[in-house]
Amino acid sequence: MKVEFLGAQGGVSNGYSATSFLIDGNLLIDAGSAASNLPVERQAEIDNILLTHSHLDHIKDLAFLCDNCFDLRDECFNLHAHATTITNLKNHLFNDAIWPDFSTIPSPEAPTIRYHSIIPEEEFTLGGYKILPVQVNHPGDSMGYFIEKDDKCILFTGDTSSTQRIWEIAGTKKNIKAIVTEVSFPNSLKEVAKLSYHMTAETFKEEHKKMPKNIPIYITHLKPAYQEKVISEIDALNLKNIHIVHHDGKIINL
Ligand SMILES: [Zn+2]
Ligand SMILES: [Zn+2]
Repeated sequence: MKVEFLGAQGGVSNGYSATSFLIDGNLLIDAGSAASNLPVERQAEIDNILLTHSHLDHIKDLAFLCDNCFDLRDECFNLHAHATTITNLKNHLFNDAIWPDFSTIPSPEAPTIRYHSIIPEEEFTLGGYKILPVQVNHPGDSMGYFIEKDDKCILFTGDTSSTQRIWEIAGTKKNIKAIVTEVSFPNSLKEVAKLSYHMTAETFKEEHKKMPKNIPIYITHLKPAYQEKVISEIDALNLKNIHIVHHDGKIINL
């Protein structure tokens, strides 16, 4: 699997793009920067989209992805997410007020996007990938995903505060090659982190004890305003196998 970190930040600023990961050019995990950081031809090559949750930094580019590609593809985009996320998209984004309802454009029979709801801990197959969604500790029925192909697995936790179930399941899987998780705020903002269900370096230190050992961990979702502070606080933990993703366009091959 080739994983492109199109954007890996918990916000948007010059040089910092919101969360979007592209697997093998075809499977998109979250849509924070999938239109901003890909040429239109590559946007049109995406077939399947998995959303962790409906916060704006994970969905905003869906609007422009649909707008760019509605006439470029023979098939629709297939979007998979928890029913809560799909309801939020329909009610608050593709509602014909904020943006057109692309599930009926160009026509209801052949739309730009189709929604499919997933059920936590029910594995399914999508374009050759095995996907296992697991609920994490973040608002709006947020999901993390185990994604497997050719007996290699990558875990995306998505946004989360301290959580349990996903690490229990991770402990049973022997083929995890990478973990992509989050640290959003500096330790000085731990109350904000708590209220918004995100991690600081201090909470990550405790979370790290629950994670499977000797697997590369990619830390994403730093808030643009606190990059340097959060990076120095994570570095000070002196943990092995930690990679902080603080720029767009990183690629890993599993
Ligand atoms: Zn986020
Ligand atoms: Zn969020």
